[in-house]
Amino acid sequence: MEQNLKNLVNGEFVEASTSERIDVFNPARPDQKVGSVPSMPKEDLERVFAAAAVGARTWKNTGSLERGKVLLSAAELIRERKNELVSTIVTEMGKTTAEATGEVGKTAEFFEYYGSMGRDEFGQFLPDGRPETFAARLVEPLGVVLLITPWNDPLLTPARKLGPALISGNAVIIKPATVTPLITLRLAEILHEAGLPAGVLGTVTGRGSKIGDALFEFDQLKAVSFTGSTAVGKDIQHRLSPRGVRVQTEMGGKNAAVIMDDADLELAVPTIVAGAFAQAGQRCTATSRLIVQKGVAARVRELIADAVRQLTVAPGETEGADMGPVVDEASQASIREHISRARSQGAEVVAENELSGAAAEAGFFVAPTFLQITPDQDLWAEEVFGPVLGMVEVDTLDEAIELVNDSVYGLSSSIFTRDLGQAFDFLYGVDTGQVSINQPTTGWDIHHPFGGFKDSGSGYKEQGHDALTFYTRVKAAAIRTK
Ligand code: NAD
Repeated sequence: MEQNLKNLVNGEFVEASTSERIDVFNPARPDQKVGSVPSMPKEDLERVFAAAAVGARTWKNTGSLERGKVLLSAAELIRERKNELVSTIVTEMGKTTAEATGEVGKTAEFFEYYGSMGRDEFGQFLPDGRPETFAARLVEPLGVVLLITPWNDPLLTPARKLGPALISGNAVIIKPATVTPLITLRLAEILHEAGLPAGVLGTVTGRGSKIGDALFEFDQLKAVSFTGSTAVGKDIQHRLSPRGVRVQTEMGGKNAAVIMDDADLELAVPTIVAGAFAQAGQRCTATSRLIVQKGVAARVRELIADAVRQLTVAPGETEGADMGPVVDEASQASIREHISRARSQGAEVVAENELSGAAAEAGFFVAPTFLQITPDQDLWAEEVFGPVLGMVEVDTLDEAIELVNDSVYGLSSSIFTRDLGQAFDFLYGVDTGQVSINQPTTGWDIHHPFGGFKDSGSGYKEQGHDALTFYTRVKAAAIRTK
């Protein structure tokens, strides 16, 4: 059944003031319309921002325990509605049922984690050298915060931002990606039902390129948390920072995994294959560069090539599917262009999965591809955001670390070794916000601070307690007691 949804404005789900809508299609079966959302004109945004300004005052004055209860109720509703949420993600975005199930579960955890923080202390009493002085450190919400999210984890990325933004008392306006808005509006329904007061959450749908500028004009706007491409993120940062609007950006990645000669290949190979090809490689932390020490390079090539050929590529709801389609036709074309440019620049295709069944007939599928490349080729440097892994060989750990850092991005990296000394040299030597040892570049736990260096992020972290920093300001109070 088609999901033709409305936006949440001032505590009600309403149509836009024009009838223009944006249709959403299933990337595995592009002729199947999944639903639609309003294409909001600029004039509707004013209502959303005005409501948020009121909502921000209400929510700031709501006790943190109450705020936490709403998030905990939302988590319960998410778990109750797991099946319909999973099905919306699979049909709207294309990931497999197993991947979407993981996303829904993790989303509930985010609301449980931040909801339970409603019982934590916020702020501290401070020492003060003066007599008869009571001093405190207060932590306050910022006010109205805008969240802009991409399509690749269309439920989880909003949750990762909504949890800390709401528990710390902000009003939130969220703009989901144009190709995957349905699941975010479903989440808004859940938060509304869980008891968020009017104006505390508003949703806006429309093409980023069309309403982006208008979204940034409002004086009520105190902060923007953006996840998406580096080009758009940097543009938002440059435009808003001079105005004093706080900006958090989580952007692209070109993540490298290193395999040293002493690595446990039975662990390393499947971990790297999953890191590179799960979710069709459409993860900011996806492993896209593989750096292998020469002693094991031939064996690693062989093992990864076999694994790539054996991946089951199929529509997301197919049992046993390892990988679904990519999100849309433009992504499919762009990924294929990256592969053909790599070939023309001399890269060797070591293995290419042969698409069969439904994946060969229709839909935006791309064959998982494993190539041997060199650092002077474009594929070494450019983010593909698709199921493509490029391998290079090195002699030493120093060379490997240098290559990991040879990128404008600095999101995630990993090393596979049994040598603790090598592991620590890697940990301290790489310029990425996330580093793992004998673990994937992907899949960071909600308790871990998350965010990249260099062109991958602004430095404000998401997840864990660190996430609260972006959404709050600190006020110091000194009060004479007599
Ligand atoms: P995108 O930059 O095209 O879009 C992201 C969001 O920004 C969407 O909601 C889009 O509608 C909106 N947008 C686009 N132009 C805008 C404008 N001018 N003004 C306001 N909003 C605008 O990115 P995408 O293609 O949706 O996502 C893929 C990218 O996201 C990849 O580069 C990936 O690495 C990155 N990503 C990063 C992380 C991370 O945590 N670092 C996580 C997931 C994805």
